[in-house]
Amino acid sequence: THHIHIVGGGLAGSEAAWQLAEAGFRVRLSEMRGGGDTTPAHQSDSLAELVCSNSFRSDDAESNAVGLLHQEMRALGSLIMRAGDAHRVPAGSALAVDRDGFSAGVTEALAAHPNITIVRERVDALPEGPAIIATGPLTAPALAEAIGAETGKESLAFFDAIAPIVHRETIDMSIAWFQSRWDKGDGKDYINCPLDKEQYAAFVAALLAAEKTEYRGWENVPYFEGCMPIEVMAERGPETLRFGPMKPVGLDDPRTGRWPYAVVQLRQDNATGTLWNIVGFQTKLKHAEQVRLFRTIPGLEQAEFARLGGLHRNTFLRSPELLDPELRLKSRPAIRFAGQVTGCEGYIESAAVGLLAGRFAAAELAGKPLAPPPVETALGALLHHITGAAVAETYQPMNVNFGLFPPIEGRTRKADRKRMYTDRARTALAAWIG
Ligand code: FAD
Repeated sequence: THHIHIVGGGLAGSEAAWQLAEAGFRVRLSEMRGGGDTTPAHQSDSLAELVCSNSFRSDDAESNAVGLLHQEMRALGSLIMRAGDAHRVPAGSALAVDRDGFSAGVTEALAAHPNITIVRERVDALPEGPAIIATGPLTAPALAEAIGAETGKESLAFFDAIAPIVHRETIDMSIAWFQSRWDKGDGKDYINCPLDKEQYAAFVAALLAAEKTEYRGWENVPYFEGCMPIEVMAERGPETLRFGPMKPVGLDDPRTGRWPYAVVQLRQDNATGTLWNIVGFQTKLKHAEQVRLFRTIPGLEQAEFARLGGLHRNTFLRSPELLDPELRLKSRPAIRFAGQVTGCEGYIESAAVGLLAGRFAAAELAGKPLAPPPVETALGALLHHITGAAVAETYQPMNVNFGLFPPIEGRTRKADRKRMYTDRARTALAAWIG
């Protein structure tokens, strides 16, 4: 028998299971993949599968909020960070991982833990508890309905976009070249494809004319700025892409010695360097249209795609209203929620909320309640946003950022401010752990 039931073996559920097991509690971890079910985005049966980008974003803990979150999670024994560090691939100052190695690492660590039983099953009803629901943005419909019935609120839904992945050997390196913007990183982190003014104009025009996948109610989809489809960006104006994912600054075309008019960048997607994803090119274009259009990009004329872009549902709770400060459902406190279904956004944020849910649950099982981490920490700021600081009516998924932290008091130089946030966070986290 188990002490706690975790539903969903994604980024959040895997981390929560690890934290509880490490604290000495027996966990039943239910994951529907591998038991005859899957989601529209997952492609394997591995736990903690990365469904889109292979990046955990910035690893800079001095001046970046997600980098700080990495550091805090490492300090708390995060399995997701341990596996991420072990399967790192080059990506400048970002932490990018070999997706298969990473997921296999997490799966093996959980399977080998004496306190964890992984059960490949779909759960259709809310468990009695104690339980943690970590079923993610693509929560299976029956459970989503059960959650909706319990909370009395309709879950909100919208769509996220996936960027295409290209086989490296099919990129024409007599046109494309390796370089990181402003020569940061080791120079092999990005492949750049140059476009001149005419090519860029033609690309934008073709993008606008291309056939898109239709969704009902599409017009009302509230996009995130960070995951907006390229065709939606193109609709905002002819220059939008050139100031977004196709930004050429800091990239010198070796054939001209100058910055091109626009650039398409690819980033390494697996450890062997055979797969590269087109950075920022999430799209809802039809697959055949994507192949046709992306092959007009100089250097990608012969490109073969390992995966094309796509769009998927995202289900999340109105957490600021429904959850208490320890991630318990107010109406049924034996049940906690974790991960993107709480309305955080991103792999690391999801894992971070899983880490917190696991620690809160472990403390409760031990009869020693745990205060939430201080809001000056990245963990605390993110949790505080989800469980109360955000406006419930307009609640939208959010990446961790310094805007969620209490502002730094007094007059400061802008250049010093990020460092002040992260220094303050480290002091606060050390006190909390102590
Ligand atoms: P998941 O990792 O999705 O894990 C949930 C798990 O629960 C899954 O394994 C699922 O199979 C299982 N499950 C669902 N329902 C049931 C059930 N009823 N019974 C049993 N098991 C169930 N974030 C980024 O940082 N970068 C990106 O590039 C990125 N791209 C994304 C692209 C798409 C299409 C989507 C949908 C999301 C993307 N995200 C991205 C957002 C988010 O970070 C990821 O979805 C992340 O995996 C969320 O972690 P999670 O643990 O909450 O959910």
